[in-house]
Amino acid sequence: MSCGHLYIVATPIGNLADISYRAVELLKSVDLIAAEDTRHSRYLLTHYQISTPCMSLHDHNETQRSEQLVYRLLSGENIALISDAGTPLISDPGFRLVSRARDEGVVVSPIPGACAAIAALSVAGLPTDQFFFDGFLPAKSAGRRQRLTELSDKPCTLVFYESTHRILAMLRDMQDVLGERRITLARELTKKFETVLSGSVEEVLAILMSDSNQQKGEFVVMVTGLAKSTEDAEGLNISGEHRRLLSLLAPELPPKKAAAIVSEISGISKRIIYNMILENK
Ligand code: SAM
Repeated sequence: MSCGHLYIVATPIGNLADISYRAVELLKSVDLIAAEDTRHSRYLLTHYQISTPCMSLHDHNETQRSEQLVYRLLSGENIALISDAGTPLISDPGFRLVSRARDEGVVVSPIPGACAAIAALSVAGLPTDQFFFDGFLPAKSAGRRQRLTELSDKPCTLVFYESTHRILAMLRDMQDVLGERRITLARELTKKFETVLSGSVEEVLAILMSDSNQQKGEFVVMVTGLAKSTEDAEGLNISGEHRRLLSLLAPELPPKKAAAIVSEISGISKRIIYNMILENK
């Protein structure tokens, strides 16, 4: 009997339509779906009229479940793994299962789709040529600060997941440990209250403090890495307000004139602003 196939299937991070045709067809055709929370996934599966049997695989039963699932794969069954949202294994269970399955020679294929970190980076307006994904920071402030200190000299964009309960505390720790870097907060992506805020940590904190609705939901927090030079630092950390001024003046005035005005108001060197205008042309 030939061995079955394990599929790692991405599901939506909010909007139910964000799933591929291939994922829906595959979830209908496999023998079993291993889901992080079967009750949670029922909503998605019912929506797409998928009636494949489900079994739970979560952080607390993954080791034991992986053995059962690998046995079934080796017996010829095809199995799909899904998580509550987005791509399994990305801050979600599945690592042990994939590792065990590959050890046993089972073919493991991705069915790609939504991932909150990648969706957030695509709209952040921060450098994406290199980034460091750190998932969830520790829940307690001391651990969080220590981790932020360890990451503080990384020169690339840092990407974190955060929940509504800790978003303010996390931003405050970030401000203390990393200083006033430019950040982007992506909240409730693909959902009704989708919001993407950019600015210095202080500016973004001020928005959240003035409107408690902005503290609700699921967040991806992205922060610029340690600048390689003072010039980079100034350019990256220019405030949202001054960026907006620049974006209004640049199309209307000669670059030198626009740079002079924004430099006067922001205190950032004329040359840096001038280079930013040329880069964006
Ligand atoms: N596997 C998922 C993925 O591919 O993105 C991530 C799972 S992790 C347990 C859940 C976290 O992802 C949330 O706490 C939040 O930080 C982030 N997240 C998930 N959906 C999101 C959304 N629609 N908007 C912003 N962040 C989201």
